[in-house]
Amino acid sequence: MQAGHPEETPDALEASMDRGGVKPELQQKVLRLSEFHTYPAPGVLIGAFMVDYALELLGVTADKKLYGVCETPKCLPDALQVMAHCTTGNNRLKVVPIGKFAITLNAPTEGETAEAVRVYVDLEKLKYYPIIDIWYANSPTYDKHTMKGLLQDEIFRAGRMILSFERVLVPVKIKKKWSSVSCPCCGETVPDYLIEGDRCGACGSMKYYEKI
Ligand SMILES: [Zn+2]
Repeated sequence: MQAGHPEETPDALEASMDRGGVKPELQQKVLRLSEFHTYPAPGVLIGAFMVDYALELLGVTADKKLYGVCETPKCLPDALQVMAHCTTGNNRLKVVPIGKFAITLNAPTEGETAEAVRVYVDLEKLKYYPIIDIWYANSPTYDKHTMKGLLQDEIFRAGRMILSFERVLVPVKIKKKWSSVSCPCCGETVPDYLIEGDRCGACGSMKYYEKI
């Protein structure tokens, strides 16, 4: 973990989790997740409880193949990557930038849709946790210089008490056969389904660099 504020060291994090009554197995996961994320961001800490809850609701353990969707690109995807092994690279993590602190998780299925569990931060329940509430609302009354430690303590004390869930159906992505094609502009190859008209994405709408 990168050296940051005193309350962000692994020792301080463990002490804060002890105060909050976080169970030991989950504490280990929170430490690993914070290390992966490079620091214990509040969103990552809440994410740990969300994934832990979703796994329990699905009745599965993380050694099973799972698919996750995350409704924000901030913090939360790392909780799914580290704790449920739904990663960008194994294509079992989808990030939809809706801007909600919510995830869905599901096991593989043969059908076109899968039964998933959606776990989200419940605004009604946040009322009982005033510091998380103002942090979550991005309120100017939240002062990260003086309230960071308090926020962390409150997150661990709350655990899954700020979360709710619902059972939902999600579409299953069907794997398609593909072939490799050359882009006439750059000469590099891409899968046929990624060609944009007559060129590859890098020569088209996904261009993100200029040659130097
Ligand atoms: Zn090209």
